[in-house]
Amino acid sequence: MESIKGLKVEKKDINHKTIISVGKEEIGGTRLTIIAGPCSVEDKDQIMNDAKLVKSCGANFLRGGIFKPRTSPYSFQGLGKTGLDMIKEAGKMEDMPIVCEIMSIEQLKQFASEIDVIQIGARNMQNFELLKEVGKLDQPVILKRGLSATIEELLLSAEYIMAHGNTKVILCERGIRTFETAYRNVLDLNAVPMLKSLTHLPVIVDVSHSTGEWWMVEDLSLAATAVGADGLMIEVHDNPEDALSDGMQSLKYDVFKMLMSKVEKIAKVVNKSL
Ligand code: PEP
Ligand code: MN
Repeated sequence: MESIKGLKVEKKDINHKTIISVGKEEIGGTRLTIIAGPCSVEDKDQIMNDAKLVKSCGANFLRGGIFKPRTSPYSFQGLGKTGLDMIKEAGKMEDMPIVCEIMSIEQLKQFASEIDVIQIGARNMQNFELLKEVGKLDQPVILKRGLSATIEELLLSAEYIMAHGNTKVILCERGIRTFETAYRNVLDLNAVPMLKSLTHLPVIVDVSHSTGEWWMVEDLSLAATAVGADGLMIEVHDNPEDALSDGMQSLKYDVFKMLMSKVEKIAKVVNKSL
């Protein structure tokens, strides 16, 4: 791809890869990073339970939204600062770094320092002013591919962050919009080998938003691992039926546990460990 030649995102040679350290965890190295937890932080019991379970199954990072980009303004919008305090406590309890989405410059200024890995969601992939501000931080950031964004656009958005000084960028394929309506999004697994050949940055796959159906998540987790993803993002909830967001795609504990044991086997085939 000509447009990224000479840019900071470009892979310069076959051994050029970035490994991002977060506490004692690493993203982009020889381990398959598992980021798991609920779509949204809903209350203290929920996030504490979810943290304990995902940790016991081998997850490395705890995810949980505190600011939610919802299609309808009447849907649950997240608990904000209260939710952040809850997920921080849960992360501390289980000794897991936390991943939370930030949607605005204002939120970034107020809360970034309390979050281990900042997530820039699909809807903000081309919020260039936000990307510039994230670029001024020295903090890992997961950049999700926009709903209709090309690989080139994703990489140029990553370049916005890197051009401003922050080199700790993790790319996330989370499914794209196509003519298909049978599922929430189409998981573009081509993106994994393509991104890994074009760039030195770690590439993870969100197997939950890319399917929208809990029963598809295990199969796509195995597939994403097989094509060389550096990590998986998976929504897990203690009671998906009552979840305030994305219950349909959230895994119950037993399903997540089974998924982890199967993923471990595929990871070994591609020389990764959990
Ligand atoms: C999320 O991870 O909670 C989320 C909203 O994802 P996306 O931005 O990929 O839709
Ligand atoms: Mn979600």
